[in-house]
Amino acid sequence: MPMERLHIAFFGPANSGKSTLVNALCGQEVSLVSPVPGTTTDPVRKTVELPGLGACVLIDTAGLDDASLLGPERRRRTLAVLDETDIAVVLSPSVIPSEASVSHLLALLESSSIPIVQYTRGESIESLMERLRAVAPKQEERFLTGNLVKAGDCVMLVMPQDSEAPKGRLILPQVQVLRELLDRGCNALCCTPESLASALKRVTPDLVITDSQVFGLVNRALPSSIPLTSFSVLLAGAKGDLRTFVEGASAIDRLQPGDRVLIAEACTHVPDTEDIGRVKIPALLRKKADIKVDIAAGNDFPEDRTPYQLIIHCGGCVATRTLVQSRIKKALRAGVPITNYGIAIAKLQGILERIALP
Ligand code: SF4
Repeated sequence: MPMERLHIAFFGPANSGKSTLVNALCGQEVSLVSPVPGTTTDPVRKTVELPGLGACVLIDTAGLDDASLLGPERRRRTLAVLDETDIAVVLSPSVIPSEASVSHLLALLESSSIPIVQYTRGESIESLMERLRAVAPKQEERFLTGNLVKAGDCVMLVMPQDSEAPKGRLILPQVQVLRELLDRGCNALCCTPESLASALKRVTPDLVITDSQVFGLVNRALPSSIPLTSFSVLLAGAKGDLRTFVEGASAIDRLQPGDRVLIAEACTHVPDTEDIGRVKIPALLRKKADIKVDIAAGNDFPEDRTPYQLIIHCGGCVATRTLVQSRIKKALRAGVPITNYGIAIAKLQGILERIALP
């Protein structure tokens, strides 16, 4: 899996110089700078290559002490940024510990494992960079395919190219898995569900990786001796926590009429009529019991998770491991089981035991 971009978020009261600092690090005007407090309203993200840190996403946030009518909503969005933060830069000395919202942020940061860098106005960019490099978490190299493959294996990828597939391209997890298989010295063979039967007549693969949406269909076409997994299950291993997700999926058996399930998507996208999170998984769940399904997209992961009997998270293909890990912790802290799309679909189709886990 490619190295993930380090997410560095800048926090502090309005007009404490966050935007000026982000602009200085980027060497260009990314955020509007003005002496008027509260110029930055929603978090502003900029991807930049920083010496010694590689590709980073700098996140400029709204002032935590925003007193406008929209203030509480902006504060909520600012604090939601913590889920994706690898390093928090807190601007001082304007940070006044008695300022309730800033104290709240500092308390949240201290209770998390997010490294904090306090920045004092006037400090040089070189000195800040040095401190950022010193606290930057080391990234381990992770393979999406884990221990499921070895050099020389033949891996068959089943990728539906129907109306839901983006026109003219493959989706990110498919591209990443293909590249990884080549890097690991495997032979990759691509087919669609329609051409699977003819592909299986030609070769007997060591592993089949499919889109979770066609898990049932591929499973029926495949001899049980051939290991089967999905792109979403691979993401569960690389970004999430397989054990937690498999345990979480067992909550599906306990769902009762009237229970609530949260479908959490890590990004916002325009759903189509066959959307996996909004249409297909809810339909499978409702076959089990008359339950209520809520959707949370992008940064709108709800602060109160307790109304839910289960959270089903997307694969998080464009999210970082930090974000998915943070959501797992939040769910478990609220005592709510959490699983992901691929594992939930395998469970709902009664084939979870048959699925190869990385
Ligand atoms: S981040 Fe999640 S919701 Fe967005 S495209 Fe990837 S799997 Fe789908």
